[in-house]
Amino acid sequence: MQGNHVEDYFSTLLPSFSFAMNSYLLNNIRGKKMTSCLFCTMVAGEIKPDVVFEDDTVLAFRDINPQAPVHILIIPKIHIATLNNLDDTLLAGQLLQTAIKLAKQEGLSEEGYRTVFNCNKKGGQEVYHLHLHLLGGRQMKWPPG
Ligand code: AMP
Ligand code: ZN
Repeated sequence: MQGNHVEDYFSTLLPSFSFAMNSYLLNNIRGKKMTSCLFCTMVAGEIKPDVVFEDDTVLAFRDINPQAPVHILIIPKIHIATLNNLDDTLLAGQLLQTAIKLAKQEGLSEEGYRTVFNCNKKGGQEVYHLHLHLLGGRQMKWPPG
């Protein structure tokens, strides 16, 4: 009887232990603890952006301060701070393929659109969780400024 109580105790704890472990692993990819990353809080579901696409690897949502009629951010679900830290070619392809798919979904493919990774300070990066901007619905200018 005593043994069963011990088993019950541990089986009650197990789900919350797994959740804690998953969160720990998600937030500690490549040794970087990112408890305060805005986009990681979106991946964790703590902040809910206007999501347009999601799978196991990426999340895509509308930019809160759109710079064009369509402005979507595509992010990896794991924390990668900048483009300099992107060494996973499969993931790089998944981010780009998502942009291509969403451009089509938003009706941008034929007229054209722009994709941008801002990297570090001089690249204009403000949120240090890798994201691919997908912009469209107006004429883009060059140079981008
Ligand atoms: P970057 O300057 O390349 O780092 O881009 C960061 C982008 O994140 C900007 O375009 C912001 O408008 C956008 N952004 C910041 N906070 C949010 C939010 N809570 N929801 C959606 N987009 C956001
Ligand atoms: Zn992050």
